[in-house]
Order: sequence, then structure tokens, then C-alpha cells
Amino acid sequence: MLAVDLHSHSTASDGTLTPTELVARAHARGVRALALTDHDTVAGLAEAAAAAAELGVELVPGIELSTQCQGRSMHIVGLGVDPAASALRELIDELATIREARAERMAASLAKAGIAGALEGAARLAGGGVPTRTHFARYLVEQGVAADVGAVFKRYLVRNRPGYVRTDWPELERVVGVLRASGAVPVMAHPHAHRWTGAWSRRLLEAFLAAGGLGVEVACGTSTPQSLQAWAGYARRYGLLASCGSDFHSPGGFIELGRLPPLPEDLPPVWRLLPVRAEA
Ligand code: AMP
Ligand code: MN
Ligand code: MN
Ligand code: MN
Repeated sequence: MLAVDLHSHSTASDGTLTPTELVARAHARGVRALALTDHDTVAGLAEAAAAAAELGVELVPGIELSTQCQGRSMHIVGLGVDPAASALRELIDELATIREARAERMAASLAKAGIAGALEGAARLAGGGVPTRTHFARYLVEQGVAADVGAVFKRYLVRNRPGYVRTDWPELERVVGVLRASGAVPVMAHPHAHRWTGAWSRRLLEAFLAAGGLGVEVACGTSTPQSLQAWAGYARRYGLLASCGSDFHSPGGFIELGRLPPLPEDLPPVWRLLPVRAEA
């Protein structure tokens, strides 16, 4: 079993467990090193670090940043980030502004489809943090529009459906640069999930490398044996460090913490660059 999980979420962005509950759950399931990587925020890191110190879990301070490259949106996880770094704080503020404007447009689009109150509903569920699509999805479930979050994403909030709005996220080059300047190791998150063609995968990996990217998630919560092999191949080809992250948000519906498949043994793991000793 892999005792390292370098991608997880708490209530600070769109998870359902508090940072303390998340760390306790990871600990109970044998995870010895855990990265908290909430969407566009570091708000949960201090609480998670305190909980991890109590339990003897190695907490890697992280973030998952929204970005785009050549018109494609993607997420970059930053591992070992300094949450006080000024360039990062600036980018986080900017992302909050982008998300707030986007939330207003999403709510307007949902209102047109007959779903009222989504802006207030998502804001309430975000508990004062930055609203993500998941908060909108939970509001739609509350309203009885769909049975669960997964069902919402089939009919709403995705391209060509009510509640979807195109968003201009900060460019990849800048996001990766800010992570490097903030002491973090930039890792391309869940690349298999985009279903990019081979040509797009190579193009975007080359842009990521040119920007200063260092790692790629080879083993993710939604990996299949095929996608794991494919992205291990890209990691080898481009000399990227291999990362592994569950992308856990909540109990049920996501892979359980501590259940990631192992990384291929020939690949250098990203935790070599982190103060993490959990390679057992
Ligand atoms: P946002 O960053 O606001 O666009 O929200 C992205 C988040 O929405 C992802 O990190 C997931 O947590 C969630 N999400 C996206 N697609 C789906 C889906 N098909 N099912 C469940 N959650 C999803
Ligand atoms: Mn999420
Ligand atoms: Mn993501
Ligand atoms: Mn994530």
C-alpha cells in the first residue's frame, strides 16, 4: 500500500471534511504523508498542519491552482508551498476575483434555466470561501434538481449545459512561475482526466516543462491501469517526477484515502524534492 497521498481537499475549498477530519481520516487509513491541495486557496493549511503534528502525519502544504494553456484549462498542484509568499497571495486574490465573477454568471445562467438562488446557495455552502462548481452542484442537489453531485455534472455546469460559463483562468506559464517562486514543486494534476489526444498531451507537457513544471500525477484516484501506464510513459519521456494523489473530496464517490496504486518503481517520485520520509 502506498503511504503517500499528495492531492486532497478539505472544506477550505470543495471537500466536505474539515482539515482536521481529513487528516484524521488519512491517518486512520495508513497515510503517512498527506498533501492538502485545496482549489485556489491555502486557508486550510494551518489547521491541517496542527492536526498532522498531533497524529504524526507528515503534512505537505499544497494548493491546486486553476490555469489555462493554449485555450485548454487544467489544474496544477503545488507541493511544499510557502502560503505566505507574496506572489502566491497575489495570485490567490486574483483567482478569488475570477471565481466570484464566474459564480455570478453561473447563477445567472442557472436562473435562466429556472433555478433560483444559486449564487447565495453556493456561497453559503462555500462557508465564506471561494465557490467552486462543486458548491453549485451541492446546491442543485439540495434543491432536488438531481440526486447527487455526479448526476448534476451530467446535466449542468459542463459545456453546453445550464450553469456552464467559459472562464479565463491565469496562464500556465505564470501559475507555474508563481509556484516555483513560492517554493513549491509544480505537478500537473490528473492529466488523464482531460482525455487529451496524444498531440495535445505532448504540446501541453512541453509548455508545462518550459514554464518550470517538475512533476506529473501518474497515479490518481481515477486512474485506470491503462492511464497509469500511459502517464508513466509521459513522465519517463519528459523526465518528470512521478506524483500520486487521490483527489479525495468526501467519503463516498471518490477513491478512499490510502488506496492509491503504487507508482512504477523505475520512476523517480516527486517526494524526493519534499521534506517527506514516508517512502515505506
Ligand atoms: P471548478 O474549479 O470550480 O471548475 O470546479 C472543479 C471541481 O468540480 C473539480 O475539482 C471537481 O471537484 C468537480 N467536478 C468536476 N467535474 C465533476 C464531475 N463530473 N463529477 C463530480 N465532480 C466534478
Ligand atoms: Mn474539486
Ligand atoms: Mn482538479
Ligand atoms: Mn483536486
